[in-house]
Amino acid sequence: MRIVQKYGGSSMGSVERIGLVAARIARSHAQGHSIVVVVSAMQGETDRLLKLAAQLSPRPRDREIDVLLATGEQVSIALLALALREKGIDARSFLGHQVRILTDNVHGSARIQTIDAAPVQECLDRGEVVVVAGFQGVDQDGNITTLGRGGSDLSAVAMAAAIAADACEIYSDVDGIYTTDPAICSRARKIDRIWAEEMLELASLGAKVLQARSVEFALKHKVTICCKSTFDDGDGSWVIPQTVTMGGEAMQGLEGAVVTGIACDRQTARFSVSGILNRPGAAAALFRPLAQDAINVDVIIQTAPQDGYCELSFTVPQVSARRTAELLESLRPTMGFGQVRLAENVAKVSIVGAGMRSQPGVALRAFEALGDAGIDIELISTSEIKISLVVDDRFTEAAVRVLHDAFELHAVGR
Ligand code: ADP
Ligand code: ASP
Ligand code: MG
Repeated sequence: MRIVQKYGGSSMGSVERIGLVAARIARSHAQGHSIVVVVSAMQGETDRLLKLAAQLSPRPRDREIDVLLATGEQVSIALLALALREKGIDARSFLGHQVRILTDNVHGSARIQTIDAAPVQECLDRGEVVVVAGFQGVDQDGNITTLGRGGSDLSAVAMAAAIAADACEIYSDVDGIYTTDPAICSRARKIDRIWAEEMLELASLGAKVLQARSVEFALKHKVTICCKSTFDDGDGSWVIPQTVTMGGEAMQGLEGAVVTGIACDRQTARFSVSGILNRPGAAAALFRPLAQDAINVDVIIQTAPQDGYCELSFTVPQVSARRTAELLESLRPTMGFGQVRLAENVAKVSIVGAGMRSQPGVALRAFEALGDAGIDIELISTSEIKISLVVDDRFTEAAVRVLHDAFELHAVGR
């Protein structure tokens, strides 16, 4: 078989761990498989590099930041190739530009356009293990680009599509995809199979086990992902790359449940702007400068107008909170709203499930469970297959556990 194996920071934490990764690859190689390995930087390295850069420049998306961040993965591929060679395996490391992972030029969140599979194929034909740097690519002018945080998952899925791999295995420190983050909820249960569409929602809403864009790519290019643990030999969890069709059995989660999982995003801040004169275009005027600054506004709620005035509440990523506050203040002279309140530490807790499309009452059950636990809901947003609730971050873990219990996610075949 032709297999892509991706090892993230959680598997590449130390030289000892890199040794374990090499041993696992050696076992697959000995079974006769052709293996392309995609690796991330060692754990904490990308954050360390970002902190260094932040001391010198506040710009988050910049050509030079990508040059800096790409070094983390360069270290990893070299160390892993060395470890494999020590085990008597012919291994060869490649940077993104050497396998021509061609991307657009959006530094910090570049999109993959094509991959040149020829150099990889040549190595595989010689029986070598190919070790590719994840997270990085090159634009058509030869500049190094990076694919966004957690982007090695995307590199692996794209590589699997490019070489028409039989399997795309994503290894980390958990043995699969759970009903919620097992680090938060000890009753979390491993899911054997999940629709890519549900996984995409979970990942976009904070479940870090897979990067959202990698799941989107897998769905589009029909790559089946299997999430496994680097440190044991379990079967892992399969992400099935099909859309959940309307009608028939497929509207349910693959395990027959209405709710499949719970995710949380703790890097969220909430703004409430009161005393906005309720006239056509008011919301557009408020959000325009934020959009122009590429600030990602998420849950938005507007109160019904009272005496001609209304209040708007919304969330933004915590890292954008300061900039958002500045932009709002700059609007005050022209818009003349009242108070701007900022809650810097809120979290978005989300319930996801394909079966929610056909089942009323899911939201009510969530509200009741949180109410009984004395947890205030600050904002609510819903879509076909998810409900997101914004709560004070002090209650995040409790909210996740309460909801997990309320939907009995610990039990199979509810
Ligand atoms: P890597 O560094 O290998 O890319 P990550 O840290 O990005 O690994 O992802 C693995 C982590 O994702 C786990 O340690 C776990 O705490 C977290 N996680 C969050 N949500 C889930 C979930 N639903 N199922 C499994 N793991 C999850
Ligand atoms: N090293 C990068 C990051 O920390 C990419 C990855 O881990 O997938 O985001
Ligand atoms: Mg990751």
